Amino acid sequence: MHRIHATNDFSELRYLQSLLEAKDIEYFTKDEHLMGLGTAAGEVPPYKCPMEIYVVEKDQVNLAKQLVRRATGKVSIILESWTCSSCGEQLEGQFNACWQCANARYPSAG
Ligand SMILES: [Zn+2]
Repeated sequence: MHRIHATNDFSELRYLQSLLEAKDIEYFTKDEHLMGLGTAAGEVPPYKCPMEIYVVEKDQVNLAKQLVRRATGKVSIILESWTCSSCGEQLEGQFNACWQCANARYPSAG
């Protein structure tokens, strides 16, 4: 396993996941709070610990790191306004889901 990134920002994590998926890079994330392990619910503020992204295949690590570097070097991209693909609502960059129809900005990993 090869750790390529760690972040406290859930929207950044989701954004990077979508990039990795677009390139068919096999990865997994270690985000104990999301899985409800380690602490009782509500005991620790969510996302206090960094969520980590690991790449499975060694020969995909460099590509994955490149994607991450490019993405995190332009964090403003994440904060740009966007248009809901479901209902067409204009939304500000800090929102990760449409307030109109709850459509997610970044499609989930399934
Ligand atoms: Zn919408």
